Amino acid sequence: MMITRFAPSPTGLLHPGHAFSALSAWQRFRDSPDDVAEKRFLLRIEDIDFNRCREDYETMLIEDLLWLGLEWEPPVRRQSEHLADFQKVADDLKTRGFLYPCFCTRKDILREIERAGGAPHGSEGPIYPGTCRELSSDEAASRIEASETFALRLNLEKSLAKIGGEITWQDEAAGTVKAEPELLGDAVLVRKDIGTSYHLAVVCDDAWQGITHITRGLDLFESTHLHRVLQELLDFPEPMYFHHELIRDDSGKRLAKRDESETLRSWREAGISAAEVKKRLGFEKL
Ligand code: GLU
Repeated sequence: MMITRFAPSPTGLLHPGHAFSALSAWQRFRDSPDDVAEKRFLLRIEDIDFNRCREDYETMLIEDLLWLGLEWEPPVRRQSEHLADFQKVADDLKTRGFLYPCFCTRKDILREIERAGGAPHGSEGPIYPGTCRELSSDEAASRIEASETFALRLNLEKSLAKIGGEITWQDEAAGTVKAEPELLGDAVLVRKDIGTSYHLAVVCDDAWQGITHITRGLDLFESTHLHRVLQELLDFPEPMYFHHELIRDDSGKRLAKRDESETLRSWREAGISAAEVKKRLGFEKL
């Protein structure tokens, strides 16, 4: 049975790009042949980044989604209410030796990359050069003792050695995809500032909510390489993915999820109906 979700972050007003993503997930749900009484559509608010998320944005995004005609099964899950659970998973990964503390600041990382003559770039910027991976546990412990702030990074090499063999995922758009987590390197799983990360929280929540189908934009395609590694390490089931295309404006420029002046709200205030929005975004049948 299909269990799917839309998982926005309340960091601003909903843009046409978000609406497109929400409608893509909603359409896939509506089109699935499963019994209507049994398939489930959930809404999850990804509000772990307290520096950027706001409650009024959450209220407005819920209003906008209802206006668009989406319906979800209550309750709405808020990631900020589950920080201790994410922490437990991080502790477990750390105990098993898959995470290491990283004391580097952004500046340290850039300096190290410059010294090494460059580093490959992934979706989240230059790949971490591994400076703190080799720290002895004594040195790490004494820096923690001295109240130096630190993030926790995934030791990718160790993780892949544990998993063994090839990791893939099924993507409704791209077919069978071979995971290439090297594109993200030793990613941060526990940020210094928020005590978790998008990657850790999204993988845990999708598993804990029993999500079978994940629809999200191609902007998150690269993250899936890492998410599959985490699912394997944590013994979580493998969901079916669909990474949808990103919408573009008439001139072919990608409509971003933020930094755009047009929002769903501005369209609505200009008198555009929900039916017209769906038509503009290519979902006239919904
Ligand atoms: N919260 C993420 C975003 O708004 C989406 C997470 C996901 O669908 O995996 O970009």
